[in-house]
Amino acid sequence: MIDLHTHSNFSDGTDSPTTLLSKAMAHGLTTIALTDHDTVAGWDEAIAHLRPGLELVLGSEISCQTHDGISVHMLGLLFDRSNPELMEMMSATRENRYTRMSKIIEKLNAANYEITLEDVLAELSDGATLGRPHLADALVTKGYMKSRDQVFAEILHNDSPFYVSHYSPTPEEAIARVKAAGGVAVMAHPMSSLRSRVVSPESFAAYVDAGLDGIEVFHRDHTLENRERLLSIAAELDLVVTGSSDYHGNGKLNLLGENTTDPEEFAKLEARADARRVVTRA
Ligand code: AMP
Ligand code: ZN
Ligand code: FE
Ligand code: FE
Repeated sequence: MIDLHTHSNFSDGTDSPTTLLSKAMAHGLTTIALTDHDTVAGWDEAIAHLRPGLELVLGSEISCQTHDGISVHMLGLLFDRSNPELMEMMSATRENRYTRMSKIIEKLNAANYEITLEDVLAELSDGATLGRPHLADALVTKGYMKSRDQVFAEILHNDSPFYVSHYSPTPEEAIARVKAAGGVAVMAHPMSSLRSRVVSPESFAAYVDAGLDGIEVFHRDHTLENRERLLSIAAELDLVVTGSSDYHGNGKLNLLGENTTDPEEFAKLEARADARRVVTRA
């Protein structure tokens, strides 16, 4: 079983990379990708704790925004992390997430939520990418709400008056940098039903021109109808089809291996990287 999109506590997941790998083996996964938001900081721990029987695909879920303001998540997989341009792009996003968080907190304070940046940072593991889920956790800790889900549903969703976006590259820029670093680019949950706006079916051709390798089709946020639509787009544009859990530990209901990637599709994807970078332990 191949699960190509998961998060650890190096972003907004709640399991360490070590725990994530143990759970992956317990769930019968044979291949797992670690794709924390806008960072590769969890890679070393994952490499160090990999055991025989599990293959590790290293990557990151890169936050992007189109010119018309649509939020897109791009999975970069199997790239060379010594590529300076790709690392600079991710670090610009991570830094801007702090300014953005302060702006969201100001809006919440104006609406009488007593919360500080320190409260939010207390929910963040060392070296992790800051995100709305940590703010949600802080609001839960303070007793304002019961769960991350409730906070997102009521006040932190993308259409909320409290929402602020952060610097992000365009999907084309992210694809170009992942490809220049020798990796492969897969658009995550392109038609997520949880998002108010998603890219149009017509826009995929331009992403393919930019170098897009695949699209995530099998994902809990996709309706059956959208899976069918995405499968036909993939067939038309010769895109690799992936599936994943987008596991976040206790941060979301998603369970490891609940959606998976066909081994033949994964083989096609891996062959598109400029070197064999899947990590294994003998
Ligand atoms: P950010 O990157 O800071 O804009 O936060 C987006 C993150 O919030 C994504 O990684 C999602 O996994 C997470 N998220 C979105 N909706 C929810 C939800 N309802 N419950 C928990 N996490 C969520
Ligand atoms: Zn996340
Ligand atoms: Fe995502
Ligand atoms: Fe994700």
